Amino acid sequence: MKDWKHPLLRSRMEHFRIGILLVLGITCIGLLAGAGVQPQVRGTAAGSQPLTGLTVALDPGHGGYDGGARAHDSGIWEKEINLQIALAVEKELTARGAQVTLTRREDICLAPGDTATKARKRADLKARTDLAQAAGADVFLSIHLNEYRSRSESGPQVFYQQGGEAGRLLAGALQEALVAGLKPAKVRKAMAGDYFVLRSPIPSALVECGFLSNAAEEKLLLDPVYHARIAAALADGLTEYRQLLQRVDP
Ligand SMILES: [Zn+2]
Repeated sequence: MKDWKHPLLRSRMEHFRIGILLVLGITCIGLLAGAGVQPQVRGTAAGSQPLTGLTVALDPGHGGYDGGARAHDSGIWEKEINLQIALAVEKELTARGAQVTLTRREDICLAPGDTATKARKRADLKARTDLAQAAGADVFLSIHLNEYRSRSESGPQVFYQQGGEAGRLLAGALQEALVAGLKPAKVRKAMAGDYFVLRSPIPSALVECGFLSNAAEEKLLLDPVYHARIAAALADGLTEYRQLLQRVDP
């Protein structure tokens, strides 16, 4: 029964069989590799990943009644994009061995009430830094998007609390990594500021990922592919920050 087929057809059948075997083989290797990687992702294989042992608190800025900035063309609120970016960052950091806590996973304000008062806003911000401290975070990153009246302003920019050395190192490393990873048209430097969420004892940075008031950057900031690039850059920056800390305090 084997030899009735035309030699060319037989050859094709062989190729098909070899193809199936190859696919099965690659799938098995993938499954085995996946099984080997999983414990490292959970942080049990100490030192095997660049961010193993690092606990990161990610804070998607704004939420609930507080929408933050509004995208000029699409009308989408900053709070929504901040959360999408934070989830992408969580995915990347976890894959590189970090433990990650998010201050919110939904569109909520962390302070109870139904008013838009300054006191409630302050309570919301305090709840975020309290969560980071309760999680034992080594690093706190608040994710935001910028806006400006001039639509020509663009580029990511990282802020740190004036006078905080660890925050300055952290913000500098993140800023350089964002510039290297995103290659923005406008290159900015990390800057000192005075932000409530940066005043906790945890080394902290406020990451403005780009300008929602800039037409080209708004398009990028709405794209999940760009979110993944931001995430990879921030993961690179955190790796660099850890190395800087070891040099300062071996
Ligand atoms: Zn913001």
